[in-house]
Amino acid sequence: SVTVTALKKKFGQTEVLKGVDVRVPEGHFAVLVGPSGCGKSTLLRLLAGLEEADTGKIELGDRDVTRLEPRDRNIAMVFQSYALYPHLTVRENLAFGLKLRKTDAAEIEKQVKRASDMLGLAALLDRLPKQLSGGQRQRVAMGRAIVRKADLYLYDEPLSNLDAALRAQVRVDIRKLHDELGATSVYVTHDQVEAMTLADVIFVLNKGQVEQSGAPLEIFDKPATKFVAAFLGSPA
Ligand code: ATP
Ligand code: MG
Repeated sequence: SVTVTALKKKFGQTEVLKGVDVRVPEGHFAVLVGPSGCGKSTLLRLLAGLEEADTGKIELGDRDVTRLEPRDRNIAMVFQSYALYPHLTVRENLAFGLKLRKTDAAEIEKQVKRASDMLGLAALLDRLPKQLSGGQRQRVAMGRAIVRKADLYLYDEPLSNLDAALRAQVRVDIRKLHDELGATSVYVTHDQVEAMTLADVIFVLNKGQVEQSGAPLEIFDKPATKFVAAFLGSPA
Protein backbone atom coordinates (compact mmCIF):
# COMPACT_ATOMS: atom_id res chain seq x y z
CA SER A 1 0.00 0.00 0.00
CA VAL A 2 0.99 3.62 -0.35
CA THR A 3 -0.11 6.44 1.93
CA VAL A 4 0.53 10.08 1.18
CA THR A 5 -0.30 12.54 3.95
CA ALA A 6 -0.50 16.34 3.71
CA LEU A 7 2.17 16.45 1.03
CA LYS A 8 3.36 19.91 -0.01
CA LYS A 9 5.80 21.00 -2.68
CA LYS A 10 6.80 24.45 -3.93
CA PHE A 11 8.92 25.37 -6.92
CA GLY A 12 10.16 28.85 -6.12
CA GLN A 13 7.06 30.86 -5.14
CA THR A 14 4.64 28.47 -6.81
CA GLU A 15 2.88 26.01 -4.56
CA VAL A 16 2.44 23.01 -6.87
CA LEU A 17 1.13 20.53 -4.26
CA LYS A 18 -0.93 22.14 -1.52
CA GLY A 19 -1.42 19.32 0.97
CA VAL A 20 -2.21 16.13 -0.92
CA ASP A 21 -3.66 13.04 0.75
CA VAL A 22 -3.72 9.76 -1.17
CA ARG A 23 -4.17 6.23 0.07
CA VAL A 24 -3.93 3.21 -2.23
CA PRO A 25 -4.55 -0.18 -0.61
CA GLU A 26 -2.25 -3.10 -1.43
CA GLY A 27 -3.03 -4.57 -4.85
CA HIS A 28 -5.15 -1.65 -6.03
CA PHE A 29 -4.81 0.26 -9.28
CA ALA A 30 -5.07 4.01 -8.61
CA VAL A 31 -5.41 6.61 -11.35
CA LEU A 32 -4.53 10.28 -10.88
CA VAL A 33 -6.42 12.52 -13.29
CA GLY A 34 -6.54 16.24 -13.69
CA PRO A 35 -5.82 19.05 -16.14
CA SER A 36 -2.38 19.95 -17.41
CA GLY A 37 -0.27 21.62 -14.73
CA CYS A 38 -2.33 20.42 -11.74
CA GLY A 39 0.66 18.56 -10.25
CA LYS A 40 0.22 14.94 -11.37
CA SER A 41 3.80 14.36 -12.53
CA THR A 42 5.16 16.22 -9.53
CA LEU A 43 3.27 13.90 -7.19
CA LEU A 44 4.59 10.86 -9.05
CA ARG A 45 8.15 12.18 -8.94
CA LEU A 46 7.82 12.74 -5.19
CA LEU A 47 6.60 9.15 -4.78
CA ALA A 48 9.60 7.91 -6.76
CA GLY A 49 12.00 10.08 -4.76
CA LEU A 50 13.05 12.12 -7.80
CA GLU A 51 11.95 15.29 -6.00
CA GLU A 52 11.89 16.00 -2.28
CA ALA A 53 8.71 17.05 -0.46
CA ASP A 54 8.71 20.30 1.53
CA THR A 55 6.42 18.85 4.19
CA GLY A 56 4.16 15.83 4.57
CA LYS A 57 4.74 12.12 4.56
CA ILE A 58 5.01 9.21 2.11
CA GLU A 59 4.67 5.66 3.41
CA LEU A 60 5.05 2.35 1.58
CA GLY A 61 3.29 -0.24 3.70
CA ASP A 62 4.38 0.76 7.20
CA ARG A 63 7.74 2.16 6.03
CA ASP A 64 8.24 5.94 6.02
CA VAL A 65 10.12 6.64 2.77
CA THR A 66 9.62 10.43 2.67
CA ARG A 67 13.34 11.22 2.96
CA LEU A 68 14.75 8.11 1.28
CA GLU A 69 16.70 8.14 -1.99
CA PRO A 70 15.02 6.52 -5.02
CA ARG A 71 17.21 3.39 -4.77
CA ASP A 72 16.05 2.76 -1.18
CA ARG A 73 12.32 2.89 -1.97
CA ASN A 74 11.88 -0.16 -4.25
CA ILE A 75 9.63 1.68 -6.67
CA ALA A 76 9.48 1.13 -10.44
CA MET A 77 8.50 3.96 -12.79
CA VAL A 78 7.42 3.97 -16.43
CA PHE A 79 7.98 7.36 -18.04
CA GLN A 80 6.02 9.05 -20.79
CA SER A 81 9.03 9.27 -23.09
CA TYR A 82 10.14 5.69 -22.86
CA ALA A 83 13.83 6.43 -23.41
CA LEU A 84 15.12 3.02 -24.47
CA TYR A 85 18.84 2.68 -25.13
CA PRO A 86 18.89 2.72 -28.96
CA HIS A 87 22.14 0.78 -29.36
CA LEU A 88 21.11 -2.02 -26.97
CA THR A 89 18.87 -4.97 -27.88
CA VAL A 90 15.55 -5.54 -26.14
CA ARG A 91 17.25 -8.17 -23.95
CA GLU A 92 20.02 -5.73 -23.00
CA ASN A 93 17.52 -2.94 -22.36
CA LEU A 94 15.58 -5.21 -20.01
CA ALA A 95 18.73 -6.42 -18.25
CA PHE A 96 20.31 -2.98 -17.84
CA GLY A 97 18.97 -2.07 -14.40
CA LEU A 98 19.72 -5.53 -13.01
CA LYS A 99 23.31 -5.37 -14.28
CA LEU A 100 23.74 -2.01 -12.56
CA ARG A 101 22.66 -3.68 -9.34
CA LYS A 102 25.27 -6.42 -9.87
CA THR A 103 22.64 -9.14 -10.17
CA ASP A 104 24.21 -12.46 -11.20
CA ALA A 105 23.82 -13.66 -14.78
CA ALA A 106 21.48 -16.59 -14.09
CA GLU A 107 19.12 -14.39 -12.09
CA ILE A 108 19.15 -11.72 -14.83
CA GLU A 109 18.25 -14.34 -17.43
CA LYS A 110 15.42 -15.61 -15.26
CA GLN A 111 13.95 -12.16 -14.61
CA VAL A 112 14.31 -11.06 -18.25
CA LYS A 113 12.46 -14.23 -19.29
CA ARG A 114 9.71 -13.61 -16.72
CA ALA A 115 9.20 -9.99 -17.82
CA SER A 116 9.40 -10.70 -21.55
CA ASP A 117 6.96 -13.63 -21.29
CA MET A 118 4.47 -11.48 -19.38
CA LEU A 119 4.68 -8.73 -21.97
CA GLY A 120 4.77 -10.86 -25.12
CA LEU A 121 8.32 -9.80 -25.97
CA ALA A 122 9.95 -13.23 -26.02
CA ALA A 123 10.31 -13.30 -29.83
CA LEU A 124 11.76 -9.76 -29.94
CA LEU A 125 14.64 -10.04 -27.47
CA ASP A 126 17.42 -9.75 -30.06
CA ARG A 127 15.97 -6.74 -31.88
CA LEU A 128 17.01 -3.13 -31.50
CA PRO A 129 14.41 -0.51 -30.45
CA LYS A 130 14.32 0.97 -33.98
CA GLN A 131 13.15 -2.44 -35.26
CA LEU A 132 10.04 -2.34 -33.03
CA SER A 133 6.60 -0.78 -33.36
CA GLY A 134 5.54 1.98 -30.97
CA GLY A 135 3.45 -0.40 -28.89
CA GLN A 136 6.30 -2.91 -28.69
CA ARG A 137 8.68 -0.17 -27.55
CA GLN A 138 6.22 0.88 -24.90
CA ARG A 139 6.10 -2.73 -23.71
CA VAL A 140 9.90 -2.83 -23.46
CA ALA A 141 9.72 0.33 -21.34
CA MET A 142 7.25 -1.45 -19.07
CA GLY A 143 9.51 -4.50 -19.08
CA ARG A 144 12.35 -2.41 -17.73
CA ALA A 145 10.14 -1.41 -14.82
CA ILE A 146 8.76 -4.88 -14.01
CA VAL A 147 11.97 -6.85 -14.44
CA ARG A 148 12.49 -6.18 -10.73
CA LYS A 149 9.78 -6.85 -8.14
CA ALA A 150 8.77 -3.46 -6.77
CA ASP A 151 6.53 -2.42 -3.90
CA LEU A 152 4.88 0.20 -6.11
CA TYR A 153 4.63 0.72 -9.88
CA LEU A 154 4.28 4.27 -11.19
CA TYR A 155 3.17 5.20 -14.70
CA ASP A 156 3.29 8.76 -16.04
CA GLU A 157 1.05 8.96 -19.14
CA PRO A 158 2.71 5.90 -20.68
CA LEU A 159 0.35 5.78 -23.65
CA SER A 160 0.50 9.35 -24.89
CA ASN A 161 2.92 8.56 -27.73
CA LEU A 162 0.70 5.81 -29.17
CA ASP A 163 -2.13 6.00 -31.66
CA ALA A 164 -5.70 5.31 -30.51
CA ALA A 165 -5.77 1.60 -31.43
CA LEU A 166 -2.45 0.83 -29.78
CA ARG A 167 -3.45 2.88 -26.78
CA ALA A 168 -6.48 0.72 -26.19
CA GLN A 169 -4.38 -2.43 -26.55
CA VAL A 170 -1.50 -1.41 -24.28
CA ARG A 171 -4.03 -0.12 -21.73
CA VAL A 172 -5.40 -3.65 -21.47
CA ASP A 173 -1.83 -4.97 -21.21
CA ILE A 174 -1.07 -2.63 -18.32
CA ARG A 175 -4.11 -3.67 -16.32
CA LYS A 176 -3.42 -7.37 -17.00
CA LEU A 177 0.17 -6.93 -15.95
CA HIS A 178 -0.92 -5.23 -12.73
CA ASP A 179 -3.24 -8.13 -11.91
CA GLU A 180 -0.59 -10.76 -12.72
CA LEU A 181 2.03 -9.02 -10.61
CA GLY A 182 -0.39 -8.53 -7.75
CA ALA A 183 1.05 -5.03 -7.80
CA THR A 184 0.06 -1.72 -6.29
CA SER A 185 0.02 0.84 -9.09
CA VAL A 186 -0.40 4.60 -9.47
CA TYR A 187 -1.14 5.72 -13.01
CA VAL A 188 -1.23 9.31 -14.25
CA THR A 189 -3.32 10.43 -17.19
CA HIS A 190 -5.41 13.37 -18.30
CA ASP A 191 -7.62 11.00 -20.32
CA GLN A 192 -10.96 10.45 -18.57
CA VAL A 193 -11.78 7.28 -20.50
CA GLU A 194 -8.45 5.76 -19.57
CA ALA A 195 -9.08 6.62 -15.93
CA MET A 196 -12.60 5.19 -15.89
CA THR A 197 -11.58 1.89 -17.52
CA LEU A 198 -8.32 1.23 -15.65
CA ALA A 199 -8.93 2.37 -12.10
CA ASP A 200 -10.01 0.66 -8.91
CA VAL A 201 -9.82 4.11 -7.38
CA ILE A 202 -9.58 7.55 -9.00
CA PHE A 203 -8.05 10.69 -7.52
CA VAL A 204 -9.13 13.90 -9.27
CA LEU A 205 -6.46 16.56 -8.85
CA ASN A 206 -7.11 20.24 -9.35
CA LYS A 207 -4.55 23.00 -8.72
CA GLY A 208 -2.38 20.90 -6.43
CA GLN A 209 -5.17 19.37 -4.36
CA VAL A 210 -7.25 16.20 -4.44
CA GLU A 211 -10.71 17.46 -5.28
CA GLN A 212 -12.39 14.05 -5.00
CA SER A 213 -11.44 10.38 -4.75
CA GLY A 214 -13.37 7.14 -5.00
CA ALA A 215 -14.38 4.28 -7.27
CA PRO A 216 -14.81 5.35 -10.93
CA LEU A 217 -18.60 4.97 -11.11
CA GLU A 218 -19.11 6.56 -7.71
CA ILE A 219 -17.22 9.66 -8.80
CA PHE A 220 -18.91 9.72 -12.18
CA ASP A 221 -22.40 9.38 -10.67
CA LYS A 222 -21.82 11.66 -7.70
CA PRO A 223 -19.26 14.31 -8.62
CA ALA A 224 -18.54 16.40 -5.52
CA THR A 225 -17.89 19.66 -7.37
CA LYS A 226 -18.66 21.36 -10.68
CA PHE A 227 -15.03 20.92 -11.62
CA VAL A 228 -15.18 17.12 -11.21
CA ALA A 229 -18.48 16.92 -13.08
CA ALA A 230 -17.13 18.96 -15.98
CA PHE A 231 -13.82 17.13 -16.04
CA LEU A 232 -15.33 13.64 -16.12
CA GLY A 233 -18.23 14.68 -18.32
CA SER A 234 -20.78 13.51 -15.75
CA PRO A 235 -24.41 14.13 -16.64
CA ALA A 236 -25.57 17.33 -14.92
P1 ATP B 1 0.69 17.62 -17.52
O1 ATP B 1 -0.67 16.98 -17.62
O2 ATP B 1 0.81 18.77 -18.50
O3 ATP B 1 1.83 16.67 -17.60
P2 ATP B 1 1.03 17.80 -14.62
O4 ATP B 1 -0.25 17.73 -13.87
O5 ATP B 1 1.87 16.59 -14.70
O6 ATP B 1 0.73 18.40 -16.08
P3 ATP B 1 3.31 18.96 -13.28
O7 ATP B 1 4.34 18.56 -14.26
O8 ATP B 1 3.25 18.23 -12.00
O9 ATP B 1 1.87 19.00 -13.95
O10 ATP B 1 3.53 20.51 -12.99
C1 ATP B 1 2.74 21.22 -12.05
C2 ATP B 1 3.21 22.66 -12.01
O11 ATP B 1 4.52 22.73 -11.47
C3 ATP B 1 3.28 23.35 -13.37
O12 ATP B 1 2.83 24.65 -13.23
C4 ATP B 1 4.76 23.30 -13.70
O13 ATP B 1 5.11 24.38 -14.51
C5 ATP B 1 5.41 23.38 -12.35
N1 ATP B 1 6.71 22.68 -12.28
C6 ATP B 1 6.90 21.35 -12.46
N2 ATP B 1 8.21 21.02 -12.31
C7 ATP B 1 8.85 22.17 -12.05
C8 ATP B 1 10.22 22.53 -11.80
N3 ATP B 1 11.19 21.60 -11.76
N4 ATP B 1 10.49 23.83 -11.58
C9 ATP B 1 9.53 24.78 -11.59
N5 ATP B 1 8.24 24.51 -11.82
C10 ATP B 1 7.89 23.25 -12.04
MG1 MG C 1 2.70 15.49 -16.30
